[in-house]
Amino acid sequence: METIDITGLPLPVSRVGLGTWAIGGWMWGGSDDNRAIRTIQAAVDQGITLIDTAPVYGFGRSEELVGRALEADGRRDRAIIATKCGLEWRDGKVYRNSSPRRIRQEVEDSLRRLRTDRIDLYQVHWPDPTVPIQETAATLRQLRREGKIHAIGVSNYTVEQMKVFRDIAPIHTVQPPYNLFERAAEDEILPYAVDHGIAVLAYGALCRGLLAGSITATTKFAGDDLRRTDPKFHQPRLNQYLAAVTAFDRFARKRFGKPVIALAVRWILDRGKTVALWGARRPEQLEPVVDVMGWSIDNEGMQEIERILVETVKDPIGPEFMAPPQTSDMRAVA
Ligand code: NAP
Repeated sequence: METIDITGLPLPVSRVGLGTWAIGGWMWGGSDDNRAIRTIQAAVDQGITLIDTAPVYGFGRSEELVGRALEADGRRDRAIIATKCGLEWRDGKVYRNSSPRRIRQEVEDSLRRLRTDRIDLYQVHWPDPTVPIQETAATLRQLRREGKIHAIGVSNYTVEQMKVFRDIAPIHTVQPPYNLFERAAEDEILPYAVDHGIAVLAYGALCRGLLAGSITATTKFAGDDLRRTDPKFHQPRLNQYLAAVTAFDRFARKRFGKPVIALAVRWILDRGKTVALWGARRPEQLEPVVDVMGWSIDNEGMQEIERILVETVKDPIGPEFMAPPQTSDMRAVA
């Protein structure tokens, strides 16, 4: 397992982190507790040290499962728990709240659910325009002084918002959407992170499964699975993305002897001081992680990837549909 060091964290951080949103079940058509626990344990047992979760994932369920999974056999000491704050929910509706009062409440709830006395990495999940960023930053700075959290991260923040935050408290990690199909982070966030020594935790590394290579035009998603409303999964766009996946897979196998899932994640790792957050809810979904390690994509390979993208995805669309509403507007999702 390749690793990087991130200031403030007690262990080297594996370059693939486990994402546990789907494990919470909510917006993913449900999940199975026992399988989820086995997935988290399998991740740690194969050297994945970073486990990314959030209170909102299943409204506490994901954190609870992470806590239960890590409690057994000393896994807590081999794992870095990254959780988040700043989203609130009422009657299943989610909205932003990064007020000091909300964060103080959340940190206690998370520590209890996670069955731990410290959160290794605490990240603001979404910027909340109704609360001054300085207040949010000062709250995290204080929690760090108290030893409840060790390192600080932000997610879905712009560079401007990060600058304001960093006047008050350090930022050790930033978590934007970033994968072969969602690259807005390249404009400003990645260069800013490089300049300021901030590690990038790339979320949606598999573009919600598209880049895993097993989704087809006839794949059906159950219940509240977000891919039912994700514009990438609707025709005619879906066929463009699937054509890209097919071309990537052919190229990756011929050139590197690897499947598309390994190419997609390796591509993220070859873009800087990055960690790819890989969402999984079944242990076997993590088996291909080993294919990602120990090689890299050369310049020619990078150029071929660009060529494939331009040739196949004529009408790209980003992940903006996932943004949660602000306090005054409780219509949408997280
Ligand atoms: P993702 O990693 O792009 O995709 C996850 C999905 O890919 C899985 O649920 C699974 O779908 C499929 N998959 C995984 N391994 C596979 C394999 N070996 N073969 C076939 N399919 C496979 O999506 P994500 O979970 O949204 O993103 C990763 C993590 O990033 C999240 O869990 C969360 O920790 C973080 N995240 C953060 C934010 C934020 O706002 N900060 C937003 C989104 C995500 P099925 O289980 O349906 O097969």
